Formats: sequence, C-alpha cells, structure tokens
Amino acid sequence: MKKIAMTTPLVEMDGDEMTRILWKMIKDELILPFVDLKTEYYDLGLPNRDATADQVTLDAALATKKYGVGVKCATITPNAQRMEEYKLHQMWKSPNGTIRSTLDGTVFRTPITIPSIHPAVKFWKKPITIARHAYGDVYRDVEIQATEPGIAKLVFEGVSGKKEEMIVHEFKGPGVLEGMHNTDKSIRSFAHSCFQFALSLKQDIWFATKDTISKKYDGRFKAIFEEVFEAEYKDKFKEAGIEYFYTLIDDAVARVMRSEGGFIWACKNYDGDVMSDMVSTAFGSLAMMTSVLVSPDGKYEYEAAHGTVTRHYYKYLQGEETSTNPIATIFAWSGAFRKRGEMDNLPELINYADQLEGACLDTLNDGLATKDLVNLMEGITPTQLSSAQFLKAIRERLEKRLA
Ligand code: NAP
Ligand code: MG
Repeated sequence: MKKIAMTTPLVEMDGDEMTRILWKMIKDELILPFVDLKTEYYDLGLPNRDATADQVTLDAALATKKYGVGVKCATITPNAQRMEEYKLHQMWKSPNGTIRSTLDGTVFRTPITIPSIHPAVKFWKKPITIARHAYGDVYRDVEIQATEPGIAKLVFEGVSGKKEEMIVHEFKGPGVLEGMHNTDKSIRSFAHSCFQFALSLKQDIWFATKDTISKKYDGRFKAIFEEVFEAEYKDKFKEAGIEYFYTLIDDAVARVMRSEGGFIWACKNYDGDVMSDMVSTAFGSLAMMTSVLVSPDGKYEYEAAHGTVTRHYYKYLQGEETSTNPIATIFAWSGAFRKRGEMDNLPELINYADQLEGACLDTLNDGLATKDLVNLMEGITPTQLSSAQFLKAIRERLEKRLA
C-alpha cells in the first residue's frame, strides 16, 4: 500500500510515563504503516526538559506557532516529589502553561462518545465542548481578611493621573474582601479563539456570564465578544450555517441540561473550571476526553485531556501488561492530521484521520475495550484487552477501512 503523503511537518511533542509508552505504540501500530509521517520532533519528557533547562518546551511552542499544528503527549508537571524522583535542577513550570501562554490560546475539551456509554444526562446525544478562559478573575486575585472594623476601597490610578475610587464596604466587624481583574486583550483573544474553533468544528457557540449583576466586569466580557463577533465573524458564521448565542450563566446551565449537545460552551475562568469537570464526568471517562489549544490567530495544538497515568506506568515498569486507554491520545493525532490536511489541502490525510477515528469507534462498538471502559459499557458484553491487544484490534479495522 502506498503511504499517505504529507507536505508540512506536524510539531510532535513527546511526553512522560505511560503515555510516552502509548505514544510509541500508537505510532508503530497505527501511523507509520499508513502515513509517510513528517514531524518536527521535540522531546518534552521530563529528563529532556531538565537537560535543556526547559528550552525544549519553548522551542516546541514556537514551532507550533510557525507551522500551525502540533500534537502533544501528556507530560509531568513537576512537584516536590517529582524533583526528588527525577533529580531535577528546578521545579520546571507546566509545559501546558508555557505552550498556552506562548500561543495565547484557549483550551477546548471534547468528550469522545459511543452508543454503549450513556451520558449521565439522558438528553445528551452529542458531545458538548467546553472552552475555558484561562486567565484572571479569581485565579489572579488578591484577598484580605479584615480582622476589625474598617473601610475597604477599590482604587484605580491611571498613568495619566486619572484616579477612581469606590467604597467596597464599611466593615462594622471582621470580614473578607477580594480584588480581581481581567484585561481587554485576554478577553479579546479568548473571543477570537472561540469563534475560530466554532468555525473549524462548524458548531454553534454559546457564551454566558452574569452581566445583570456584574454590569461592568461581566458586561465587558459580553461587549467584547459581541464586538469581535460583529466585526469579524458574523458573515463567516452565516456562511457556515452556525450561530453565536449569548445568555445569562444560570439560563445557560438550564439550557445545557435540556439540550441534546453538539455545541461549544465558552465559559469564564471559574465557570469553565467547575463546568468542565461536571460535563466530562457526566460523559463518562477522562480517558475519553480530547483537548485542543486554539490560538486567536488559528494555530492548533492537540492532546489528550488526561495525564501520564503514573499508576499504570509503575505496573508497566514491573513487567505487567497494562490496559491503559489510548483513545484520547489517538484522537489527538487524528485531530492534528485532519487539521494539517485541511490547511495543506490533502484530502487523503483528512480521510486517514476520519478512518483512524472510525476504526477506534468500530473496535469499541464491537465490544473490545480497555479496563476503564468495561464497567461503563451498557447493552453490550465487553471484552477487556491490554493496550497492545486493543491497538492491534484497531489496526485490523483501520486496514479494512483504508483498503
Ligand atoms: P492521570 O494521569 O490523568 O490519571 C489519573 C487516573 O485516571 C489514573 O490513575 C487512571 O485511573 C485514570 N486514567 C487516566 N487516563 C487514563 C487512561 N488513558 N486509561 C486508563 N485510565 C486512565 O492524572 P494524575 O495521576 O493526577 O497525574 C499523573 C501525571 O500527569 C502528573 O505528573 C501530572 O502532572 C500529569 N498531568 C499531565 C497533564 C497533561 O500533560 N495534559 C494533565 C493532567 C496531569 P486508575 O489508576 O484507577 O486506573
Ligand atoms: Mg477543576
């Protein structure tokens, strides 16, 4: 069989632990036999991040900016215990944080759904993608615990000398207060990423805040979204047959619950933190959740939403065959191939991405699954396979689909 050609390299970011093992297995079994793979390889495994003083992460992020599409394996975010375990020179920052700030991007998480795993919300028929604004608000706040009566003020001193001052509260006794902020620039980038991604998926996008109460703060989010939409996306949305829909956050929550899914839900930072955990749990499993970082100028970085599955890796190191789910990592690759295919106008590569995903779903629908899914499946008697067996089963189906 002639291998499928690529023209521009994907930025390939290797990672850590069990997902690093899966990464190689996926390439050997499902990619290299079919695609004349072109990648620019960056080893983001913790030992190499330490050896390069984390320069490799920045280089990978810049390469993604240059080429437009990256695919990333899960990586360890070091903590005190990892410092010891890997004898690190420094507690390097989260690679995802570095990549996100370099690309100024927004993360979109989408569940992979199959008929035998029923969402906890019975109305949901299609995936719901959550976009979380990952800057500011309560995550960059300052807080004071007032221990005696006193006056709390909000003060802004402009560089021009302009000064605004407001009383937050006159405390008659102890209490708490908090100051938080966001920037037009960050909100605008968030809006662009959201509209870009909606066009890319050809799905409606919803956005919600509490602007009836927080008239200036949340009102600013609403206004910027509206302004960006009117100026740059209104016509493109019409052409694509999709909609931008704004409502209040409490109305959005009620509508999401009664919806059948199939849209993107853009959330402010806190709402996204909370709602993404709720939505992903309701859809079934973290191992079936993909994640893509989209920059305001339309660069894409694909990955699985889960981590490096450390517990499985320790078993693997002891020689045990694990049943770790590779689906989200495979979908990171297929997402990246599809996007590369769209950008480079390579219909064969797009078809390969579709068939690869199709082969994964065929395998699951045939009742072949990894351990994490076996207990979730209903109306089917699943067979539990090791990761290696599971990948072989996917490969058989992929070969048939591509023949
Ligand atoms: P995790 O790797 O997502 O794993 C948590 C648990 O979820 C696993 O122990 C496993 O449960 C289950 N699980 C997750 N993915 C699975 C899969 N593909 N197949 C089967 N089961 C799966 O999270 P963590 O243990 O909290 O974090 C481990 C490391 O990953 C940390 O060093 C963290 O910094 C890193 N991390 C990286 C990213 C990223 O790169 N995007 C994201 C999150 C965490 P059972 O053990 O019960 O089978
Ligand atoms: Mg959370």
